Amino acid sequence: RPDAVGRLVGGGISRFAVSLPLAVLALSAVLVVVAMLQLRKEAELTRLREDFVSGVSHELRTPLAQIRMFTETLLLGRVRSEAESRRSLEIIDQEARRLTQLVENVLRFARANRGVSRVAPATTDLAAETLAAIEAFRPLAMMRRAELRPELQPGVMAVVDRDALRQVLINLLDNAVKYGPSGQRVTIGLALYGESARLWVDDEGPGIPPAERERIFAPFYRVERDAGSAVGGSGIGLAVVRELVVLHGGRIWAEAAPGGGARMTVEIPDAYIARPAVAAGDWAAA
Ligand code: ADP
Repeated sequence: RPDAVGRLVGGGISRFAVSLPLAVLALSAVLVVVAMLQLRKEAELTRLREDFVSGVSHELRTPLAQIRMFTETLLLGRVRSEAESRRSLEIIDQEARRLTQLVENVLRFARANRGVSRVAPATTDLAAETLAAIEAFRPLAMMRRAELRPELQPGVMAVVDRDALRQVLINLLDNAVKYGPSGQRVTIGLALYGESARLWVDDEGPGIPPAERERIFAPFYRVERDAGSAVGGSGIGLAVVRELVVLHGGRIWAEAAPGGGARMTVEIPDAYIARPAVAAGDWAAA
């Protein structure tokens, strides 16, 4: 009863005394909403982490099982011919490479998350490094009978970390081979565009839907069609690739390849053409 207030409370109830509880109530409501959002984010992160751990474990298990099986075959002398023993050794080599690649990605990803990513850039001949990465990847491409075709402009130089460049290329090649059909052709291009070098990998797979072309670079993200499929993946490959490209001041994007598959393009700034120390013919031969 407002008329009784003057008699009960000396000086009446101040406006402050009324608005304070209201302010506290409003603040509590805001805090509850913030806490709920935080909890949801935590739950989402936990789920992503669990998916990641099971994805990585699955990816580790498959090559390990192959290595064990073929090592046992060799140890027990179960191979019938020289060709068969060579084939077993090739599979062991391929699977060991796959394990190395996966472990490198996980380590690089963990370092990026702790904010301690580092690169050691040096002036690099991009075509030569790209060819070296293609050679390192060839045994893995063989498994899916993919033909790797380099179309590289010779003499393009840029200041990059060679290990990082190799990791970028191997991740892109791995995706191209993994998501494209068996027996496809994978084209690796390199050219100077103005003052930047562009490196791209084209495949003949299903491509990446336009709506997902940005999201695929987020950690743990997998295109819906692949999330539940038999094609294994941890969802960190492209996140690692983007991290490495950005550390070089570059950018990466996905688009459609001329043949309809996926094209992943990496742009590296401050590139130039070196004075030819070797004739172009030598590059073609390489
Ligand atoms: P993953 O370990 O799942 O391959 P990535 O980070 O390398 O993780 O790729 C993220 C997702 O992007 C993949 O799960 C796949 O859905 C999609 N993707 C990447 N490269 C290609 C490609 N060349 N063709 C089609 N889809 C691709």
